Amino acid sequence: MARSVLVTGGNRGIGLAIARAFQAAGDKVAVTHRGSGAPEGLLGVKCDVTDPDQVTRAFDEAEAAHGRVEVLVANAGVTDDGLLLRMGEEQFDRVLDANLAGSYRVAKRAASSMLRNRKGRMIFVSSVVGLSGGAGQANYAASKAGLVGLARSVARELGSRSITANVVAPGFVTTDMTEALSEERKQEIFAQIPLARFAEPEEVAGAVTWLASDAAAYVTGAVIPVDGGAGMGH
Ligand code: NDP
Repeated sequence: MARSVLVTGGNRGIGLAIARAFQAAGDKVAVTHRGSGAPEGLLGVKCDVTDPDQVTRAFDEAEAAHGRVEVLVANAGVTDDGLLLRMGEEQFDRVLDANLAGSYRVAKRAASSMLRNRKGRMIFVSSVVGLSGGAGQANYAASKAGLVGLARSVARELGSRSITANVVAPGFVTTDMTEALSEERKQEIFAQIPLARFAEPEEVAGAVTWLASDAAAYVTGAVIPVDGGAGMGH
């Protein structure tokens, strides 16, 4: 049966590939955006995840159209890199607020619907950097590591109600976020990745849709790397 799916940041990049994959499987998919609108065929709900009121409104709107959210993908995220000694309070907080607190806000709202349904799937999009750290990315890595603790706590709190919470940790993925890298830097990165290439967004979507599928009903609190082997051992 078609499920009600909500993907934050599903208007572009990895989130859009995830939204399209659920849509292709016949699900009813809502995506959040911050003003760009939604791509063709998807229900767009305006939402900045740093604003609790906008999160509430976006869920209300998505649920009025599609019914209670059964699958949440917390994908929205930002980077604002800088070395620790030069990283300002605001720069640190802004990334934590969007990536980690934003995921807490949407998970909390989704949990109330999932508890009423007595089932649900939450998938948090982290990063290999959350596990291995990244020079110049203390804020981003901390936010992405935080998602593991968030997901595992949700997994423990809500598991008895058939609600699972898992993390997908992508490595480098071809999107706007990685487009900015020079060709030379890309070659250096490829040398560190056993599969010697970046992932396509659809390859991240494959892990996410699997975690939301019946086949993954007994998987919770897991961190699934989709990183070409870059993070092996973490
Ligand atoms: P993009 O920069 O292409 O897209 C980011 C998305 O997040 C956009 O939809 C953006 O919305 C949304 N977003 C950002 N801030 C907020 C906010 N405050 N409220 C609501 N939405 C917001 O990124 P990617 O597709 O590359 O990344 C998606 C996720 O995957 C992120 O969490 C990222 O950290 C993670 N990731 C990406 C990797 C990569 O190599 N690309 C590797 C590992 C993890 P808007 O269009 O309005 O700006």
